Amino acid sequence: MNENCIFCKIVAGDVPSQQFYQDELVTAFQDISAQAPVHVLIVPNQHFNDLGEMGDAQAKILGRIVQVAGQLAASEGIASEGWRLVTNIGKHGGQEVFHTHFHLLGGRPLGPLLAR
Ligand code: AMP
Ligand code: ZN
Repeated sequence: MNENCIFCKIVAGDVPSQQFYQDELVTAFQDISAQAPVHVLIVPNQHFNDLGEMGDAQAKILGRIVQVAGQLAASEGIASEGWRLVTNIGKHGGQEVFHTHFHLLGGRPLGPLLAR
């Protein structure tokens, strides 16, 4: 638990969120500023600043995140049309919250991967 981290507080339930899923490793909740009809953030319960801090020792957590993304895509009804799973790292990645998180996006055509 990082005392200054908003996502640690969401995982702990100290900051409210619309939660989709939680288990012993990961938590999934609604993005507060959704950019698509489905925009869910999936985070490790443990604090890591970004994906670059996670390695072999976190393989189980990272596997769970990807698995939960697929399950939520199905339960949110976007599995057949398709979806995107994105994590931003650092300045060039446009990261704003420094607790590893993956954006599950879908529900409309998402356009090109990168702004032109
Ligand atoms: P990133 O730019 O990849 O770091 O994305 C951070 C995301 O966190 C943005 O999409 C924000 O809308 C989202 N966000 C920030 N604060 C909250 C919050 N309290 N609850 C839910 N989502 C949040
Ligand atoms: Zn955190």
